Amino acid sequence: MNRKQYDGPEKLTPTTDAGILADSFFERYAERVPAAFAVTRGVDHTLVYANSAFRDLTATTGGAALGAPISNAFVGHDAATLTIVLDRVNRTGIVARDRRLESAAPGAPAWCFTVWPESSDEWQAGRLIIEVREAIEPQGALSIQREVAERMLLSALREGDAARGAEASSGRANFLAAEGRRLAESLDERETLNAMSRMSLPSIAAWCMVDLIDSDGAMHRLAIIHPGPEEQRLLRALEGRWAPEFGDPFGAPAALERASPTIVSAGIDATLAAASHDPLTLRVLHAVGVGSLLTVPLVIRDRVVGAVTFVGGAREGVYTQHDVALAEALVSRSAHALDSARLHGEAISLRRAAESANQAKSAFLGTMSHELRTPLNAIGGFVDLIDMGLRGPVTDEQHADLIRIRKNQQHLMGIVTDLLNFVRIGHGRELYKIADVLICEMVATSVALLEPLIRQKPLSLDAVPGDGTIVARADPDRVTQILLNLLSNAIKFTAAGGHLSLHCQATDDAVHVRLTDTGIGIPPDQFEAIFEPFVQVRSGLAGRDGGVGLGLAISRDLARGMGGDLTAESDVGRGSTFTLTLPRSRTPEASQA
Ligand code: ADP
Repeated sequence: MNRKQYDGPEKLTPTTDAGILADSFFERYAERVPAAFAVTRGVDHTLVYANSAFRDLTATTGGAALGAPISNAFVGHDAATLTIVLDRVNRTGIVARDRRLESAAPGAPAWCFTVWPESSDEWQAGRLIIEVREAIEPQGALSIQREVAERMLLSALREGDAARGAEASSGRANFLAAEGRRLAESLDERETLNAMSRMSLPSIAAWCMVDLIDSDGAMHRLAIIHPGPEEQRLLRALEGRWAPEFGDPFGAPAALERASPTIVSAGIDATLAAASHDPLTLRVLHAVGVGSLLTVPLVIRDRVVGAVTFVGGAREGVYTQHDVALAEALVSRSAHALDSARLHGEAISLRRAAESANQAKSAFLGTMSHELRTPLNAIGGFVDLIDMGLRGPVTDEQHADLIRIRKNQQHLMGIVTDLLNFVRIGHGRELYKIADVLICEMVATSVALLEPLIRQKPLSLDAVPGDGTIVARADPDRVTQILLNLLSNAIKFTAAGGHLSLHCQATDDAVHVRLTDTGIGIPPDQFEAIFEPFVQVRSGLAGRDGGVGLGLAISRDLARGMGGDLTAESDVGRGSTFTLTLPRSRTPEASQA
């Protein structure tokens, strides 16, 4: 088994390629030069190109048959020497110049040949360029002509390489862009994994498998995808059967062993025998055909979470450094996509959990409040019954106690009603009966309702100034609810002797009711929090009078539900101002009202 870690550009034997023949640069130049040139490929030195001068030269010695060993074109010459030299250049990458090729026929002229590896800059064993000529001493013009031809040919080859390189990089960029788009579009983890499984390398990988590693280290072979329907059908038999195991030379185990790409290029049969883990799997893999394997670790936030293994078809060669770079880029994009998909999935499930917790809370509060109201009403009713003397005479002390019971019953009832209102608004069930309302009148009514409490404390109160004709578009019951809540807070949080003032004002399209007190105030970092349900700023005064911290949350929801708002300003220790804003009515009747 031959397994190696890929650690940088190294000389790998070339994979499939379009070949020099597809190279218009080469053809253009090589056809024009008078010297005889040929190109061979592979260890058998198969002739893959011959220019017209080469074809003419070898016409009588076997001919230049493409696809056959070049030695066939030298019948009657010492082809063995040619093969030895070609082998050596193939091995070493060093140019062999002006070697003699003797003719077996007595008196026939010897030939001379020079062999270059395909590219002198980055030599890749396998392709050779051979120039052949008659072995006469090169002299004068002929020698210059040869040199020019040689230079032209080499520069053509270099140009060809550069063009192929540029084409390959642009191909790689396009491929990555397309794959990246496909991955980026899949926000869902499943979809991302599917997109990953369909990945293949344009040059060599015929198919691909994706392994995942759980947080507890368990490894799964998530997908084995082959583009061929027949192969895919065969590979389906391995689903759930062929799992990665520690020690496997590719896939998740290899990725865990070293967090860099791994290539298995030789001894594939032995590799498969060791990593298939059962005879059926091995048979399937042989039937599908496995060439070289390239495993790239899937890394998310510095943790190896899996591996993508690109598999070449049975006859395909080894991955080049370009393939490895492309595979790494592809897999790193997949890792990003997978990470985003996972985060997105987590966010969605957290939101769902929060929503269902919220629903459960609302349902609980709704039911509880409803259940509490019935006995609370009964308590109130029986207290009234006793207080009215219907159950016998009531002493003064008993009457005073019954008033206390009644007060506490009302207080509890207020809290329960707040809870019910809150649940109703939370479910969007609050319906508003919007009408034109004279806002100053409404303020006066609310103040009148709470006047006994203001007097009882005692607090001083400014009369309600403002334009009595200001008309708001609102639901009068809801506006009263908000004003009563604001006023009772102001009374609750202002110490005896304090002062309250109410003010109505209008702009072009809004009506503002401002309630200022000289109470304990609210710390600036709580201005927004107090509008959240169940939030209370801790203070001695607040603690004295109960409440559950729902009044402002409900009031703001109601104000916003009517197209207005409720805001707070405050100076700790000096007092607070709450401003209720409502839309102003623009109808002519309203302005006359
Ligand atoms: P509750 O009054 O039931 O506690 P609210 O939602 O009406 O609930 O008020 C939330 C909190 O905001 C109060 O507990 C109190 O800490 C603070 N608060 C509200 N109004 C005033 C005010 N006028 N002055 C000082 N603090 C206030």
